[in-house]
Amino acid sequence: MAFDQGTTSCRCIIFDRGGDAVSAAQQEFSQSFPRAGWVEHDPMEIWETQLSVAREAMRKRSIPPDSIAALGITNQRETTVMWDRDTGEPLCNAIVWQCRRTAEYCEKLKDSGYEAMVKDRTGLLIDPYFSASKIHWILENVPNARSMAESGKTLFGTIDSWLIWKLTKGRAHVTDVSNASRTMLFNIRELKWDSALLDVFEIPDRILPDVIPSGHVCGYADAEHLGAELPIAAAIGDQQASLFGLCCFPAGSAKCTYGTGCFVLMNTGSKIDVSGSNLLSTIAWRTGGRTEYALEGSVFSAGSVVQWLRDGLGVIGSSPESESLALSVPDANGVYFVPAFTGLGAPWWEPRATGTISGLTRSAGREHIVRAALESIAFQTADVLRAMSKDSKCEIDSLRVDGGAAENRFLLQFQADILGVPIEKSSRLESTAFGAAAMAGLAAGYFESKDELYACLGENEIIYPAIGESERESRVSGWHRAVGSVLAAAEK
Ligand code: ADP
Repeated sequence: MAFDQGTTSCRCIIFDRGGDAVSAAQQEFSQSFPRAGWVEHDPMEIWETQLSVAREAMRKRSIPPDSIAALGITNQRETTVMWDRDTGEPLCNAIVWQCRRTAEYCEKLKDSGYEAMVKDRTGLLIDPYFSASKIHWILENVPNARSMAESGKTLFGTIDSWLIWKLTKGRAHVTDVSNASRTMLFNIRELKWDSALLDVFEIPDRILPDVIPSGHVCGYADAEHLGAELPIAAAIGDQQASLFGLCCFPAGSAKCTYGTGCFVLMNTGSKIDVSGSNLLSTIAWRTGGRTEYALEGSVFSAGSVVQWLRDGLGVIGSSPESESLALSVPDANGVYFVPAFTGLGAPWWEPRATGTISGLTRSAGREHIVRAALESIAFQTADVLRAMSKDSKCEIDSLRVDGGAAENRFLLQFQADILGVPIEKSSRLESTAFGAAAMAGLAAGYFESKDELYACLGENEIIYPAIGESERESRVSGWHRAVGSVLAAAEK
């Protein structure tokens, strides 16, 4: 059984030994935007929604609780929950990873020269995205939070911690290494909470969960919740779970999840590669006594560009229509679309950048703009992957893909063309949930080795590059000229 606790919905999927989803349930929960740039979730609603979808998934197919071998949890990362150790009541709403309320505080830390230290110890760039500044905000702003934390009455956790604490009725206060590595308080070299960082962020260590391997039986869900004492055998952040679920086990293997944004992760094995290109170094997972690391880069605007074509510009009626329109013309007719709606991510990292559509002539039509928009998703992903190859000194030889926009055939073909490597698309739709279930299955002894998981991937469809090197170079250099003008405009 996998709990897939995402940013907008809770899902539960129950898989069989062959990796097929035998039952699933999903429910959205409320998003709260109390001020511009702030995003919150109600931790109690998340817990109740997650429990309710788990019960529904069992009920739908009459699956008896004692037939479930193990439970694995995958979750939205970085989102910060603090609760009262005695009553289990959250101190305030969870501060979601997207929330920018600590932007000013993070700028101050950068100005004070902490960037190199933070990067060296955590692999991360100082940014409101990660948990540390969110915890600091709660301690400073929620009445009594600091005194309660200092007297040991308050606990902190990311969503995995919170769910495990609720499932075990407070018996386990833990987080796995992959989630810990996103807090900005965890030393990814020494695999422990970093006391110097706790000092910088003014966070007492008694609020922190114990850090456990990703694949590990850390406790049992109370029988009252799911009808039997289920072993909780895995916890892993969502992007790492997708890397695992797509079987990116060898160092150098990479995946891209094409959703609202794109998340690109490359397994770098047991070594930590420090990026010179604004990528993050992070823990992929720890299982079977071995810690593996990953490089991560994100593209802020990907599927959201397609949404904008539909809802903002109104040139398509549905997301899939972007594919037929793009395929109706032989190329983008010199049009480049740089969708820097919320700045540009790795490797450029320019928060002030804004988007442009360039190369317009009278012969440009909506199909060219739509095509250029889809091409931009592939160009941005390729930029991240090139930076990863450079930083890890590891050539990628294929890219595994998942996510909603990976349904777009034109996008995948163009991605293969621009990268010059094959794209592998698994017929398994739920790789994130499957990753958590598979990790739990391994830790609970249901699967004997990772090798068994390859068979669960199903038929991999492979899309090969169909253009030559010189055409690739000319397209990529056109794209980089367009990005260059966006960056130049942002600097002015
Ligand atoms: P998330 O988990 O980030 O919400 P999903 O993986 O569900 O994202 O993917 C949804 C995104 O993919 C949306 O932004 C949507 O516009 C885009 N999308 C869905 N189908 C297609 C398609 N056929 N072509 C292009 N984009 C698509």
